[in-house]
Amino acid sequence: MFEYDLLVVGSANADLVVGVERRPGAGETVLGSDLALHPGGKGANQAVAAARLGARTALLARVGDDAHGRLLLDSQRAAGVDTSGVLVGGAPTGVALITVDPSGDNSIVVSPGANGRLTPDDIREPSASTLLAASRVVSTQLEIPLETVEEVVRGLRPGTRFVLNPSPPRELPAPVLAACDPLIVNEHEARVVLGADAGATPEEWAGALLALGPRSVVVTLGEEGALVADASGTARVPAVEVTAVDTTGAGDSFTAALAWRLGTGESLADSAAYAARVGAVAVTRQGAQASFPTAEEVAAV
Ligand code: ATP
Repeated sequence: MFEYDLLVVGSANADLVVGVERRPGAGETVLGSDLALHPGGKGANQAVAAARLGARTALLARVGDDAHGRLLLDSQRAAGVDTSGVLVGGAPTGVALITVDPSGDNSIVVSPGANGRLTPDDIREPSASTLLAASRVVSTQLEIPLETVEEVVRGLRPGTRFVLNPSPPRELPAPVLAACDPLIVNEHEARVVLGADAGATPEEWAGALLALGPRSVVVTLGEEGALVADASGTARVPAVEVTAVDTTGAGDSFTAALAWRLGTGESLADSAAYAARVGAVAVTRQGAQASFPTAEEVAAV
């Protein structure tokens, strides 16, 4: 009865990456490597990750009427994502200007552009309401305005599952927290959402987060796996042992896989174990969207 397993409402960015020997100071120019241009943004990444696993996936986002917007639409369609909900125009496509130094450290400037123009009114449009009603699970992040996420929560139908990765993190309003099933955070996000009294261990963060209202919480712990928590208790999900070469996009692929598996009726712990395998494959490959595995590749690990 649902047309989509997953609707991702979120950001789409063009990632512009240049390698540098060192970063310029104020008023200085340095030469860098050839430019690499990749589709990115947490919303676009999650949609591609889910579709590559075989989930029937739609993206609700906004891009500019420009070459970066067309790149993003093309990469979504190539992965099999329904892009009928991607709005075009209003501002340039969001970009992330990324410099990478020889030690592999990134410095990033984000221009949200069209992502910042995805408004509550856009969510109230009939086309967006139709997508919300047709989706078993709805997943968002915070690279779009918080008011827009709040409108998504108001527009959820009974029985639709809502998943939020609050990245970049901030404190969250009670109605958004109450809708999360689960709230998915890494350590940094947990600490910001919780404020001053975060606690010291993942178990403590999860307990304190649950007390804020979400029906369930997942804490991702990088190479240490994840922790899941709901009213029935807390459980660790071990990581799959791999040799990581690039962790970019691990969190996005984990979140997308988890959201999709939950929609199939799988338990939180089993869905997180599957998502941990997806994240493990993603870190063995370079890039974000380019690193996301198919279901067959996940089955092989
Ligand atoms: P991102 O860097 O994308 O923002 P994140 O901090 O949101 O990531 P992580 O905890 O780094 O999320 O990764 C998500 C999941 O991917 C982890 O819970 C884990 O299951 C898997 N994962 C990440 N890094 C590794 C690793 N080095 N080895 C095995 N699995 C990993």
